[in-house]
Amino acid sequence: MTATILDGNALSAHLRTELAGRVAALTARGVQPCLAVILVGEDPASAVYVRNKVAGCEKTGMRSIKDVYAPDVDPAVVFARIAELNADPAVHGILVQLPLPRHFDSEAVLEAIAPEKDVDGFHAENIGALMQGNPRFIPCTPYGVMKMLEAGHVPLKGAEAVIVGRSNIVGKPMAMLLLAQSCTVTVCHSQSKDLAFHTRRADILVAAVGKAKMITGDMIKPGATVIDVGINRLPDGKLCGDVDFESAKEVAGLITPVPGGVGPMTITMLLTNTLESAERTLK
Ligand code: NDP
Repeated sequence: MTATILDGNALSAHLRTELAGRVAALTARGVQPCLAVILVGEDPASAVYVRNKVAGCEKTGMRSIKDVYAPDVDPAVVFARIAELNADPAVHGILVQLPLPRHFDSEAVLEAIAPEKDVDGFHAENIGALMQGNPRFIPCTPYGVMKMLEAGHVPLKGAEAVIVGRSNIVGKPMAMLLLAQSCTVTVCHSQSKDLAFHTRRADILVAAVGKAKMITGDMIKPGATVIDVGINRLPDGKLCGDVDFESAKEVAGLITPVPGGVGPMTITMLLTNTLESAERTLK
């Protein structure tokens, strides 16, 4: 039996139609949601992500601002721009595309964004609120994963959830969200001993590593839900996830593909956070 595919494109399209309706209603009340995106440098993957975020805004009726800086820009210029956007009441979301060039203190940049406009949810204040179970903005990738689990009717209470990867932007917030839904959560990383021992226990397995096809079918519990966050480029130019889809789909119950899984959901949740930030200005 092969796994059922959790289709991120289809779920995104459905959610974005709903979003567009809410954007139109808010715009009619005089508030058009606006996302400002800052890109520093010429990393091709970052340029594609930024382009997709801006296109997502346009398609749902939101306004976007895109500021692109040369890779050697003085950080003071970017800090000044963030301060300007923080002060602009017509801007509801601000994000700085990561990674930043090495001469930037990335943490300081993220902390410079006003927490109430931090639609990526990376500001320490917003991470703290998430830890306390009272989130203002949920980081977009794990938020998208939670929406996919909901759409797949995956039982969460008491489920064994194993996350591979402990980054601040995916693994750690993912652990908090699953814990908040009463999963029993294990977080694995590069120093974990016997990774397969952990992954084989997982009812829900989330792979967020950045290593092509490292999770193979023999590492998966039969019937498990497998969420593949990884985006890796193969030598032939094709994209693939951290999960070896071919072998995993023979064992898993539900599985997300790459591309067309978590990726489109991430941008949809960014748009959701921006809309909700704009809606809050009327409250
Ligand atoms: P990071 O590089 O920040 O983190 C990777 C994590 O994987 C680290 O915690 C690392 O452990 C762990 N790791 C590395 N090697 C192993 C190993 N052999 N066994 C177990 N764990 C290991 O990556 P991100 O979290 O930023 O991204 C992860 C992947 O997700 C990437 O492919 C990225 O492109 C993709 N991504 C996709 C998004 C989407 O929208 N679909 C959004 C964001 C990211 P340690 O901490 O010990 O170093």
